[in-house]
Amino acid sequence: MQRSIFILIIYLLIIPAVNAKQLAITFDDAPRKADGYFDSPTRAKVLIESLEQHKIGKVAFFSTTQSLDKEGLERMRRYDKAGHIIGNHTHSHPNFLKTELSAYQADFLRAHQLLQQFDNFKPYFRFPYLREGETVEKRGGMRSLLQENNYQNAYITLNNYDWYIEELFQSAVKDGRPVDMERLSSFYVDVLMASINYYDAMASKYLGHSPKHVILLHEMDITALFIGDLAQRLRQEGWKIIPLEEAYKDPIATYQLSQPIKYNPGRIGEIALAKGQKKSLWHDTLDESYLQKRFNQEVLLMSAH
Ligand SMILES: [Zn+2]
Repeated sequence: MQRSIFILIIYLLIIPAVNAKQLAITFDDAPRKADGYFDSPTRAKVLIESLEQHKIGKVAFFSTTQSLDKEGLERMRRYDKAGHIIGNHTHSHPNFLKTELSAYQADFLRAHQLLQQFDNFKPYFRFPYLREGETVEKRGGMRSLLQENNYQNAYITLNNYDWYIEELFQSAVKDGRPVDMERLSSFYVDVLMASINYYDAMASKYLGHSPKHVILLHEMDITALFIGDLAQRLRQEGWKIIPLEEAYKDPIATYQLSQPIKYNPGRIGEIALAKGQKKSLWHDTLDESYLQKRFNQEVLLMSAH
């Protein structure tokens, strides 16, 4: 009897850990333009401190190396020294739909060289706009180049428009409109959680379980301000934040869609598409006018009419 109670207690202790939904956090476009709410050293400082305070651990910064001017380089060095992964996001952020394969490959290689200076550089490649090549030739060309250089395609599963929330916030600040920071935090967290839960439900539908996720965020002021609030809400809702290396051990890391596509919704969207889902591969929150309307109402407290 005592033994079975003991086993039951152990079981109850283990189950929540086993069932925790998991995600890794990544920031694209680093070092991204900073001269609005925060200047760039402040953004880096607040972001690094928030990650530490909230015990988020190591995250990944995907760098576009053309932004490595004196200031940009300093910022990236701070992220590197803080132990975060530095990944490749090309040199000049080309749109693969409008770029020849050879030019795209050269841009990738230029970034690859420039990123060697960082101690925590890892061969992870995040395609700008998630566009991996709309023809078999272009897609195959990049797949081969990544393989030759021992790269992992740093796909994402949790898509969102956090960059547009930053745009709305920065233009409100610039226009001198009063922004209620608590409301902005709630708006940011609510919108992101809605997209996270949406793609997790889509994953469960097609995979039968919740995989190790990767969220796409950007290196921006709202990220520095609210990443801690987001982490807190994620944990309240049963999520565990994991390192990116861990996320890419999931079986979906080797998944390859057979047909090339123009616009990529993220890996879960790709799997859904392959299984016949044609609509709603992008969540409602991935829409600029939707976000603007809610931002005006919920953050700027403007009436709907
Ligand atoms: Zn980008």
